[in-house]
Amino acid sequence: MTHQILLVGDSNFSRLIAQQVRGLETLSVDVSSSAGQAEQQMLTATPDLVIGQAGLFKHYSITKQYRQHQQLMGVYIVLVEDAPGWEITQVLPSLQHTVSALESGADAYVWLGDDATQRATQRLLQLQVKQGLERAKIQRDLQRANSWLSAIALIDSLTQLRNRRALDIELPQQIQTAHSRGYDLSLMMLDVDHFKQVNDQHGHLVGDQVLQQMAERLSRNMRFYDTAFRYGGEEFVLILNKTHAEEARRVGQRLCHLIASEPFSVQADAPLSISISIGVSCLEARDDGRGQALLYRADQNLLLAKARGRNRVVSDC
Ligand code: GH3
Ligand code: MG
Ligand code: MG
Repeated sequence: MTHQILLVGDSNFSRLIAQQVRGLETLSVDVSSSAGQAEQQMLTATPDLVIGQAGLFKHYSITKQYRQHQQLMGVYIVLVEDAPGWEITQVLPSLQHTVSALESGADAYVWLGDDATQRATQRLLQLQVKQGLERAKIQRDLQRANSWLSAIALIDSLTQLRNRRALDIELPQQIQTAHSRGYDLSLMMLDVDHFKQVNDQHGHLVGDQVLQQMAERLSRNMRFYDTAFRYGGEEFVLILNKTHAEEARRVGQRLCHLIASEPFSVQADAPLSISISIGVSCLEARDDGRGQALLYRADQNLLLAKARGRNRVVSDC
């Protein structure tokens, strides 16, 4: 894996540092000659490590500024003092600069010293670079694990559809977009008819397979802008974006037909005939932003569809 390093300094500095860190790791090195310009560069392509010429960092306030950006918080920053006259005997000023640099948000402060101390300071710089790259790798692995965990937290493990938690997040977002842009939005609540009988007669494993196949069929037959969720048990919710009342009813009828017309082949010898009932609601201007009213009306219509004989759509619009 190639590590991204950004050198911030004049051409002499960049050449000197590039020589010192060469051969340490697989590095891709970018160069910037101003600390302000480097900030913009980092926001476009975040590096793993920054090595900056201390003199360019204006008493380190720019380091603080970098840390204001969320995406630059984890970047390892090493400031290097290369100004002449930095003798190792000047212990007090060196310490004061180290303290200021670290307080401003740098991770390390290294001074290059004179010829006598060159070997030691080069080694120090190389160790800081190694440590910074190790930390960047840990950070990256953590971010990957976090985004993976966030993704699976929103997926239903049985059907692989989005789950109820995902609906709680996405429905308000879609309502807000529909309200602000004046789009139509419809919502569908689907419930498998007499599903308890499937479990009772064929067992829960067969019931599970019916739910999986149901989710697959729905997903394969949805339009690009529609989103399906497993609401709970044998109930599903579909958000139909940019869809007005009449179209939503037609989509519902098509889905009822899609499920009822072809038996589910969970058992080789006896395909199961399954049907669904659907309640549809359409977004109104006075509806709340969380989608409670929309869900409530869809649920009421679903109850009506059940009461009127199942395998049908009832819509309030
Ligand atoms: P209706 O037509 O009125 O909807 O009748 P129903 O039998 O479908 O409804 P009911 O609410 O009586 O039963 C739903 C059943 O769904 C009961 C529950 O055990 C079953 N169920 C819920 N989640 C799962 C699941 O993940 N797997 C399986 N196999 N069954 C489930
Ligand atoms: Mg139910
Ligand atoms: Mg049911």
